[in-house]
Amino acid sequence: MNRKATVFIASSLVASSVLSLGQVAQAAQKKSEVSNLNVRTTPSLKGKVLTRLQKGAVVSVLSVKGAWTYVSFGKMKGYVYSKYLTSVTTVKKPHKSHTKQEVKGTVQAEWLTVRQTDSASAKAIDYLKKGKIVTIVEKAGSWYKVKYDQKTGYVNGSYIKLVGVTTPPPPPPKPDVPPKPTPPKSLAGKIIVIDPGHGNQRPGSMGNGLVEKNLNWTVSQKVQAYLNREGAEVILTRDGDSDCEGNGSLDADLRCRADVAKDNHADAFISIHTNSASSNAMGAESFYYQGTSSSLAEAVLNSYVAETGLIKRRANFGNLAVLRYNTVPSTLLELGFLSNPLEATTMKTAVFQDQAARGIVKGIQVYFGK
Ligand SMILES: [Zn+2]
Repeated sequence: MNRKATVFIASSLVASSVLSLGQVAQAAQKKSEVSNLNVRTTPSLKGKVLTRLQKGAVVSVLSVKGAWTYVSFGKMKGYVYSKYLTSVTTVKKPHKSHTKQEVKGTVQAEWLTVRQTDSASAKAIDYLKKGKIVTIVEKAGSWYKVKYDQKTGYVNGSYIKLVGVTTPPPPPPKPDVPPKPTPPKSLAGKIIVIDPGHGNQRPGSMGNGLVEKNLNWTVSQKVQAYLNREGAEVILTRDGDSDCEGNGSLDADLRCRADVAKDNHADAFISIHTNSASSNAMGAESFYYQGTSSSLAEAVLNSYVAETGLIKRRANFGNLAVLRYNTVPSTLLELGFLSNPLEATTMKTAVFQDQAARGIVKGIQVYFGK
């Protein structure tokens, strides 16, 4: 048996044993949907990171607390963000379709030798006449495990024409060709904190039918989705219409947002806000506090205005608490002026919000040189 076949069988054994264990123990098995999923001591973004789960890592669910799931794996236990876990029972699906889907083939050689294993030196156990139809049970390198007349055995795949495959001649399967590497995701391994400005009792600016905290939240969620697509781990500083720190102090709330980036060793922190001034004021601008963050502020603003078509004001130094408290590269982007009726109308549209998110993500990619 060659390596590929061994791996195939080994992985299906693992999958089935995981499922049956789950059934016996009545503990749901879930797997991490993202790479570098933080496992924390407490169900909070401020909980200490114990370790990180790789994408596809399987854990047992012990309990669920709000947005957090208490899990165990190996000897470790900790809290992970529930939205990044998916049920492992979904692995059953490809399994079922695999067994249901019957691939058949026709013998092309005058007489085709059926062997005990997938090797030309294996013992011959039968011979099949040209035109004989067999069912392909499994592919093992250049060999097929076939079933016919209640019997099974291995044949050289080059002499089997798959039924329904129209391209003549069928290319002989190459043994053990490594799968083509998929292009690496541009932000894989990056941890990005997105800070939707304001929330809960602090709505931020309001006007022309817009409430700042809500627009900031909507755009932040879209940014999160696009960043995830690029392989980044994204942590939001608030979960819906809430504070980061709910004790009522604005300063504590802003410090909490910066701490989320610090505690998670984030690679970048992007705060998303919406401006308000006179009804004539227009355009987008960004802020930085540490000089080292100016390139992030520039990159995000440039890509943002390029994508949305809004007027570019500039990337400014700003003595803003959420930036001042930050220890990681950080910027605050003002999307546009909701006090300007024209910009407010634009910013209300889903098309704009999508462009805004794409622009911000492109800026982050530029900043990281991707
Ligand atoms: Zn604001």
